[in-house]
Amino acid sequence: MTKSGFTTTQVHADRQYNTPEDGAVHTPSTNSVLFEYKNAQDIVDVFQGKKAGHVYSRSSSGSVVALANQVNALEQGNGAVCFATGMAALSSTFLALFKHGDHLIVSQYLFGNTRSLMNTLADMGIQISFVDVTSLQDIKEAYQPNTRAVFTETVANPVTQVADIQAIGRYCDERGIMLIVDNTMTPPPVFLAKDAGVSLIVCSLTKYVGGHGNALGGAVVDTGLYDWQTFENIKPAYRVADTAQWGLTQIKKKGLRDLGATLAPEAAHKLAVGMETMGLRIPRSCDNAKHLATFLDNHPKVSNVYYPGLADHPQHFIAREQMLSGYGAILSIDLAEDIDPIAFLNQLQLVICATHLGDNRTLALPVASTIFFESGEQERQKMGISDTMIRISVGIEDIDDIIADFSQALDAM
Ligand SMILES: *Cc1c(COP(=O)(O)O)cnc(C)c1O
Repeated sequence: MTKSGFTTTQVHADRQYNTPEDGAVHTPSTNSVLFEYKNAQDIVDVFQGKKAGHVYSRSSSGSVVALANQVNALEQGNGAVCFATGMAALSSTFLALFKHGDHLIVSQYLFGNTRSLMNTLADMGIQISFVDVTSLQDIKEAYQPNTRAVFTETVANPVTQVADIQAIGRYCDERGIMLIVDNTMTPPPVFLAKDAGVSLIVCSLTKYVGGHGNALGGAVVDTGLYDWQTFENIKPAYRVADTAQWGLTQIKKKGLRDLGATLAPEAAHKLAVGMETMGLRIPRSCDNAKHLATFLDNHPKVSNVYYPGLADHPQHFIAREQMLSGYGAILSIDLAEDIDPIAFLNQLQLVICATHLGDNRTLALPVASTIFFESGEQERQKMGISDTMIRISVGIEDIDDIIADFSQALDAM
């Protein structure tokens, strides 16, 4: 196929990168756990990595590999592996690549569950420095001789701090360390992590990629920019064949084969269908978010709006430069002091009170008392999360309806 636009590519990706049979336009979800080999030598060759093939669906299956090929094409990578959830992709990547005594520089503004995972890694002897990733200086000061990687999200939630990925990428390249980025909040077409120098992209497919709130999934994409030959943690068994595949091979063996964090075939199919409309859904959500942020920013009953698309956001200019289109569709607000956030949320009629993001539907929830409750007050303060903050994930509904709902709820307060 000749080079085509984003949505054309997505809609035809399954046919282009995979080979569905009988003229099917989707790769079917095959539920076989085992795979027969008529010639025993073939199963030996597949086990030894000399031949491509599936042997047991915990490690690989047609439906999941088909999705991985599409995710890889989406991020213009060198290879991808899919997992049961975004957290499975994250935990598998970190457990597969790092060991006791390694040091990681990690964003202090992380998705709460990822922060909790980092604390588990620290308990296991992986040293972690949590830094303010909006400051390259802070990252540089955290560097140690045993630093193996920098890990950050593109746009943090709920406060929407934006890391300058390109600047961090250049620094990691100078140091010869890996840059791992969680691109859940800004998948293509909003942001192309490879262009910014990212080594490994980790992503929850549950959010914008799937988009419909009906399937969990995660992925790791190797951009091909990191030289695995310089990474001493690759086991001798995986230092074979194409050096560009060493990292993903180890992540696949440890994460899928050993940890068993495998994506179900039916979920892979649902996520692949969701991917087809990313180019329609995501820009629409981003556009809606910008309109809603502007409305809320001008409302007397809202004291703060956190959204990178607003000119007074501290990293607005980085976001404007870095993102190819839009500013994401997550924003957070603080209501005027005397308004009870619970009463306000109960007043919303269209907007759903739920803990999820990147959905077709607009969602809102109080953050300090829910997803960041376990973090405790001190950690929340460091992340800039106020006690009354409300996070909003803006969906694809008609913007007039979204604004009307927020407007009536604010009026009632
Ligand atoms: C939701 C989310 C995850 C985890 O993804 P799941 O698919 O729910 O496991 C990881 N990182 C970020 C930034 C997320 O928003």
